[in-house]
Amino acid sequence: MLAALTRLVGSRLAPGGGNARLSILMYHRVLTDPDPLLPGQMHAALFDTHMQALRTHFNCLPLGEAVTRLRNGTLPPRAACVTFDDGYRDNVEVALPILRKHRVPAIFFIATGYLDGGRMFNDTVIEAIRGANVPELDLTDFKAGVLALNTVEQRRAAISACLRVAKYRNPEKRLDFVAEVAQRSGARLPDDLMMDSAQLEILLNAGMEIGAHTVHHPILLRIADDEARKEIVDSKRQLKS
Ligand SMILES: [Zn+2]
Repeated sequence: MLAALTRLVGSRLAPGGGNARLSILMYHRVLTDPDPLLPGQMHAALFDTHMQALRTHFNCLPLGEAVTRLRNGTLPPRAACVTFDDGYRDNVEVALPILRKHRVPAIFFIATGYLDGGRMFNDTVIEAIRGANVPELDLTDFKAGVLALNTVEQRRAAISACLRVAKYRNPEKRLDFVAEVAQRSGARLPDDLMMDSAQLEILLNAGMEIGAHTVHHPILLRIADDEARKEIVDSKRQLKS
């Protein structure tokens, strides 16, 4: 009954053919287990229920095929695609087995500058505060005050405060600030958060698609046009090689 209703609603909201609508589910990380420090983050059990529901009620297509069929008016009703941004290692280790289990295709957009041991600035902040071996972080010189790190709630608040400071700085100053947070935290930072090149092969061999997601993951609207073009082109070139 529920399935029939969902199908009916799905067909109305997402018809096929000339009036087709394509639903795209965008993911970033898929953690093995829920993380108290990052309560909103996707994890394996929840992702499994998403893919189960998607497989049951939608027609899941590879993004490349879906875009072609959207253009030429041959998209089936309730068409859906799954995408992953950034290139996290957990996409291969945690999400891929679940995608295969439910036979859902996906495309992985890779920020190539972080392949093989890189780390994005937001993760440096998160991991510095997770692994901090000091009771507080004094960031008064960055106008961020003294951040207590005794409880999970305090660490969560500290992460938000640091990400806020980082966000409003230009890329160079942002990296300086993040490096300072990392250094003052005394944490040992992981260098295995992102995929390595061999894992791209694993995705391709599993029938998944790979797309470019710039080199350094800048906000393209905030950088000069020629710089943005270079980020896009270089990322695509690196993936092809
Ligand atoms: Zn991204």
